[in-house]
Order: sequence, then structure tokens, then C-alpha cells
Amino acid sequence: MGIFWLNMKITSGTLNEILPTIASVPEKELTLLDISIDSRSLRNTENTLFFALKGTNHNAHDYLTDLYAKGVRYFVVSQQVNLPSDALVFKVDDTLRALQRFVAFYRKTYHFPVIGITGSNGKTIVKEWLNQLLAPLYNIIKSPKSYNSQVGVPLSVIAINEEHNLGIFEAGISKPGEMDFLEEIIQPTIGILTNIGPAHNEGFSSKEEKLQEKLKLFKNSEVLISEKTDLIAAYKPEKLQWFTWSFNQPAHVRFEKSVSTLKVNYLDKTFMVDLPFNDLASIENIATCITALLYLNVSVDYIKKAVPRLQTVQMRLQVKKGINDCLLIDDSYSSDYQSLKIALDFLEQQKTHQQKTVILSDIFQSGFLPEVLYQKVGQLLTQNHVSRVIGIGDKIGSYLKDIPQFQSFPDTETFLNNFNLKSFRNETILIKGSRSFLFEKIVAELEEKTHETVLEINLDAISHNLNFYKSKLKSATKIMVMVKAFGYGNGSYEIAKLLAHHQVSYLGVAFADEGVELRKAGIKIPIIVMNPENSAFSTMIAYQLEPEIYNMQELKAFMQEVENQNSHPYPIHLKLNTGMNRLGFTEKDFDELTTVLSQTDLVKVETIFSHLATSDIPQERAFTLKQIHTFQKWTADIKERLKINPVLHILNTSGIYNFNEYQMDMVRIGIGLYGVGNDVEEDAQLQNVATLKSVVLQINEIEKDETVGYGRRFKATKKSRIATIPIGYADGIRRSYGNGKGYVLINGKKAAIAGTICMDMLMADVTDIDANIGDEILVFGNDLRITEVAKIWETIPYEVMTSISHRVKRVFYKE
Ligand SMILES: *Cc1c(COP(=O)(O)O)cnc(C)c1O
Repeated sequence: MGIFWLNMKITSGTLNEILPTIASVPEKELTLLDISIDSRSLRNTENTLFFALKGTNHNAHDYLTDLYAKGVRYFVVSQQVNLPSDALVFKVDDTLRALQRFVAFYRKTYHFPVIGITGSNGKTIVKEWLNQLLAPLYNIIKSPKSYNSQVGVPLSVIAINEEHNLGIFEAGISKPGEMDFLEEIIQPTIGILTNIGPAHNEGFSSKEEKLQEKLKLFKNSEVLISEKTDLIAAYKPEKLQWFTWSFNQPAHVRFEKSVSTLKVNYLDKTFMVDLPFNDLASIENIATCITALLYLNVSVDYIKKAVPRLQTVQMRLQVKKGINDCLLIDDSYSSDYQSLKIALDFLEQQKTHQQKTVILSDIFQSGFLPEVLYQKVGQLLTQNHVSRVIGIGDKIGSYLKDIPQFQSFPDTETFLNNFNLKSFRNETILIKGSRSFLFEKIVAELEEKTHETVLEINLDAISHNLNFYKSKLKSATKIMVMVKAFGYGNGSYEIAKLLAHHQVSYLGVAFADEGVELRKAGIKIPIIVMNPENSAFSTMIAYQLEPEIYNMQELKAFMQEVENQNSHPYPIHLKLNTGMNRLGFTEKDFDELTTVLSQTDLVKVETIFSHLATSDIPQERAFTLKQIHTFQKWTADIKERLKINPVLHILNTSGIYNFNEYQMDMVRIGIGLYGVGNDVEEDAQLQNVATLKSVVLQINEIEKDETVGYGRRFKATKKSRIATIPIGYADGIRRSYGNGKGYVLINGKKAAIAGTICMDMLMADVTDIDANIGDEILVFGNDLRITEVAKIWETIPYEVMTSISHRVKRVFYKE
């Protein structure tokens, strides 16, 4: 028994044609209920058409015998296979292309509006928001999460069925030539182009080339919806209708932003929409969504009501620590059938506990009739070995009552009031419900409460970010990671351990003490000390820490120490001053430097490096290039004079991004690893690493004209609720962040800091927020990035990160 996605009668002759096959398979009629590319999937049955894809590390052809044993009979392959004679084997040149052609064929049989979204940033958010906005009006089929690749798109589109009347799919590409395939599969009737970022992050040589490739998605669409820009105007096909929005020039839809509202002008109408989010990227995405709604003739009243209710889009399932050693998988904002499948797969992969519980609400917008839908849901739950299911809602309660270990409650309140929550213990719990069920209340109850301020460090995000930069480098380029200043405030040992595991070449610390700490904790990889003080030389040698050498006096003193301890040849790293004018040798020192070095075997020049002053500032490109060229000239000179071939390095994080061609032998990554990139574009590709959290200790209800805190600097203009939170300037929150300038997030909502920040506490205005004692608050994290906080502090993210004082406990986790 399979979960039917398809119910497709097709002949092998038709398949011969559409895939197409190299050698034709004899005529036979088949009924396909599913397609699959995953040999582990539980849906592989006799009515599955299996496409054997080949990846760099994985070749599905290796599993065909297992699949045959499970009952699969229909295979699309691209290499010679040995299967019993009752298997139908469709041999093609390229199995991925065959999958795409098959889905394109399937897509052609449906005729309803399909929105195709592409762009550099914001695709997934625009897709999810359009879905949130349009779900009450249509029966939508959309791509789950960010299924937007050459494989993800076909797997999304194949789920279309007769019940749907609107499709929303996103398309992502990484190199020229890919969009044609995605266009064939999605066949969008309405095109949406989100923002187009710089070219270099997506494998294109220019912005123009990238735009042209993206526009291919819309070659058969009736309309393109996008911001009005000169670049798009220059490349958009003439005959394609263009429905535009803009902040500053005439367009079909004109927007003007004020503090927390967006003024919309369209035809003869002008109306205001309250903004649920205030950052520029969100506002652009909201503008795109409103424009699409206007194009679809959605009423102004509806738009005004629906937009302020948009919710943050979680890109990934969130894993949280629960009470009584439970693990929570929080997916409390979506409940379509597609995402249930993904969430259950994810639950299946969690190996922490044997016992697995699913708390599930009624499911909307599946495109199926309820009887069919819940039958499928029941099958999914049973096949995924869920230990028990708690259904919340009328529908799920009545349709699923016969599956084993099922309990039901009519609504979330009844569940919370009648179920003994303490009985959850040592189990993994998937909490999945549509928004109207407010499952975040269940998550809040089951999440382990921290009664303190903590800085959570996501080690997986660090790995992700490291891999992101690795992907920008040649495979031979070495990596040094800067873990100075306590790993930019994030903790050094845990991060160093992870980096050693990833086999980076060097770690960089500022002072010898930091290196000693790492050695004591068992870190064995090479460590460079950037500011070695003469008094620390003997310790450095004792702990095998390698110095940055930046002038003659230091070099001579260090050589003396090496001689005293008889530990030659000792590795050193020469720092050249090419324009920063901080530390380092310049050309005038080279005669003496090379004379001394050529006459000693006490030290060995392992690497030579310099540091860029403006690698993050586009207007200073010429200066950076001058530094780089000076470095190339000087190092050539030193190498020639000493007849050595040391490792050369000059790029820091933003250097990797902006001056990639000068990566030389090694790069030095700092801030990027901790999740802060050079610009919004790069930030979007990095994962947030640090989350600074605290809790609400008390809530005071105050009357109009009452004041809060030292100096009475907050005065209530109306009856207000004020939350007290145990984090203050001694924890590293700037005192100037108070008095309404800064804010914290409580339950995802902005709460302005009320009055002056105290040493150990701050107060926040929660008058308009449903906040309670014990609720978690966020100072920065994924939903409020450090970059945002830094702007209000009028500083750079580096300073915010390194300011969080050591008394704040660091908690490290992996998902
Ligand atoms: C801190 C530091 C880096 C890292 O800079 P980021 O901008 O954080 O990537 C690189 N090189 C040197 C010499 C540094 O001091």
C-alpha cells in the first residue's frame, strides 16, 4: 500500500517517448501511484517509478536490488543493471533529465494559474508569505520549504492533483543553463522576480548574465511581477507583460514607507497597511506580495487585514530541548500534507529516543477530500513508526480515531488544561499544527525553561558557515580561523575543537594566554598568536604557540628566547604592513630582515601575511588592490632573497567575498564563521550562530504617567505593562540601547526597552504583547540579527559580539 500522489495510467510506449529511453521497452500498461528517487523512502512499492539518480557521493544504481526486493518494478536507469526479468527497466542517458521530463509531461495535464518565483534572495519567504496570504482563498499546491533545485522542483510539482486551483513554486539556479529545465517543469503562468543580488554568489560572471538566466523562467508566462528597475527593463522580453512596484518611481503599485506602515497607491486607490516586520528585506518581500495580490484582484480590505498577520518563516525545522529530557521538533506554523511528510521523515531520523510522539492539528489546504486526506495521514503515521499521536481539532479527532495509540482533543486549550504535560518524558515530540491552533503555546509549555540569561551557540551553524566559505575557495587553499577574543565572544575551546575536527590549518588568537587555554584543553592544531608580548615568549614556546613577527626588535628577542630554550627551528609568521599602518614590516626593513633571517636557523618563516584595511568597502577597491599588489611585490622580493617558499595570505572574511581571486595559499576567516557577512546578500547564505536569550522575571501593570527605572526616563502615556528581564549593561548590553532606542523580542514581537538599562536588568514595554512571567526573550539571534542590533548601537557586529560579558553562560549545541 502506498501513499498515492499520482493516480496515473500510462503505457511504457509513452514513457519510451517522454523520458526518452535509449532502447525501447515493450508495450505494457502501468498504473503509477508514486515516483521516488530515495531508496530509503517508505513509499517504494510495486506502483512506484524509481529514478536512479547519480550524485557525487551517492549512486542510486547501487540500491536497485534492494528496491526490487521491496517490490519496486519500474526503474529509470542510466547504467547497465542486473534485475530479474519482470522488472521494467527504462534506460536513459541522464536520469535527472528523465525525471524532469516526466514531471513536465505530468504538469502539462493541469490548467490552473501557477506562480513561479525566482530571484537571489527572498524566494522562499515570498512563496511562504503568498501561501499564508492566499490560503484562505485558494486550494494551493506549493513547494515545501526551499525545494527549489533541479531535483526539488520536480518532486514538488509531481504532487499537483485535481483539487488544486493555484500553484506556487520557487526555482533556484546555480549556473547558466539550468533555468530552461525548471521552466519546463513549473510552466508558470504568473512570474515573480524577487531581488537580484551581486553575481558572484551564484556562479555567474555578471549580474546581467544572472538576470537573463532567471528571466528564462518566465518565457511562457502571461505576466512578470517585480520591482521596477532599469536592469530588468533592459533585459525583460518585449512581449512579456510587466506588472511593477516601486518605492521611488512611477509603477503600477507605488509604496511609501513610514515608521510601521506602508502606504500603497494603486490605480485610484490609496491605502495603508500595518507592517508586521520592519527590516528592509521584509518590506521588499511584503511589497512583492501585495503587488501579486493586487494583480490577482484580491480586495484592499482583505490585504489590509491579512498582511499584518504574516508570520516569520522558519527555514528549517527547529529542534529544542524539552522538559524531562524530551526533544521537541517545533513545526508549529504549517500543516499542509507535504510538510507533514517532511517533518515525519525528520522525526524518523532523530535517534535520541525510541519513543516518538506526534502532536498534530487538523490539516488544511491539502487539496484532498477529508476522508482521503486523513487516510493518507494515518498511513504516514503508521509507516513512520510513531509511538503515539495526539490529534487536536474536530476533523483529525474523528477521522484518525482508529489508529493505534491515538488520543484527541477538540482544541489546544482543552489539551493544555486536561493533559498531564509532566507525563512527557524521554521522548521526541513533533509538534505540528496550522497557525490557527496556536501550537506555539504547547511548545512554550514543553520547552525547558531557562531561568537565566544564556548565549546559545549553534555549532552546526558554524560548520555550515565554514563550508560556505570553503565553497568559495579553491580546494588547495588553506584556512586559518580567527578565534581571538574568546572566539569573537562565542567561546573558544568548543569552537576550536569543532574547527580541529574540520581540519582547518591554523587557529589565530590575539594573546598567548588564549592559546595556552586552547592547548590545555587539548587542541593540537597549529596556533598563531597575533599580538605576542615579549614577556610571553617562553610560555609560547612551552605550549608550541607560533608568533606573528612584525618588527626587528621583536624578531631578535624571540630568536634569543628560542636559543635559550634550545627549540630551533621555530616556526614564525611575518607580518607586512601594506597600508593598514598598525603592525608589520615595510620595504625599508627588508635589508636587515633578510640579512638576519638568512644567517640563522633559529627560526623558520612558515607564512608571510598582511591585513587589508578596506576589504569590506566597495568604494575603496583601488586601495585594497594597491595593498594586495604591494604584498605580492614584497613577498616576491623576500622569497627571492631568502630562497624560501612560505605560505602567503592576505584575505579576511570580506576579502574572500570581494577579492576572491587573491586567495593565495591561505585565507583568514573571522566574523563570517560567526554568521555575519559582508552584506545582506551574504548574510542570507550564512546561518546565525549566537543567540542571546533571557526570560521575563516579573510584569508590572502601571497607570498612565507612572515611570519606570532610574531617572524615571520612561513615562507611561497610557496604562501599560512592563516586563523586567535579568540582563543589563554588566552583561554587555550597551546602556545607550535603552530609552526606547533598542528592543528585545518577546514571543516574536518587538518590545521596546523602557527607560534606562540597569547593571543587571532591563525593562521592556509589553503593553501590546501577550507576554507572561517565564517567557523567553531574545536580545539577538536568528529573528533579530546582530547586524540589526549593531546598527542601533551605532557600531559594527564585531563589537556587539565581543561585548557579551563572560558572566553570561555559553551553551553549545548541535542539532
Ligand atoms: C581578526 C583578523 C582577521 C579576521 O577578520 P574578519 O574580518 O573577522 O574575517 C584576519 N586577519 C587578521 C590579522 C585579524 O586580526
